[in-house]
Amino acid sequence: MTKLTGKCLCGKITFSADTDIKLMANCHCSDCRAATGAAYGTLVFVAADSLKVSGTPKVFHHKADSGSDMEKHFCPDCGSQLFGKNSNRAGMVSLRAGVLDQTDLVKPTVNVYLSSKIASTPVDSALKGFEKMPG
Ligand SMILES: [Zn+2]
Ligand SMILES: [Zn+2]
Repeated sequence: MTKLTGKCLCGKITFSADTDIKLMANCHCSDCRAATGAAYGTLVFVAADSLKVSGTPKVFHHKADSGSDMEKHFCPDCGSQLFGKNSNRAGMVSLRAGVLDQTDLVKPTVNVYLSSKIASTPVDSALKGFEKMPG
């Protein structure tokens, strides 16, 4: 088990999870880029029922290119992206690595959606890479 904690930029929303990290991925999809404003998003997937949130994130609903229903949870005051849910991954929640306190635990093992990455974004060739989301 790993103890994860984090907070948004303004600090009104905090969270913690005692959990196993299932997967850590750098996602280069256009949705992650638009949501975060960054060149790519780093996602930390954990069991949704392990996540305890203090404060009330706003939730944006949209469809992924796969057709699944997506949720983006963010702070309504400062706009920090915090969590995501995907109807294709029931029971899982993805935490945005940039809002975690335990930055030394952030070690992505895969790059996904390389088909839509920004051309200049460097990619670690030691990591497995996928054109879309595998599975
Ligand atoms: Zn905030
Ligand atoms: Zn993405």
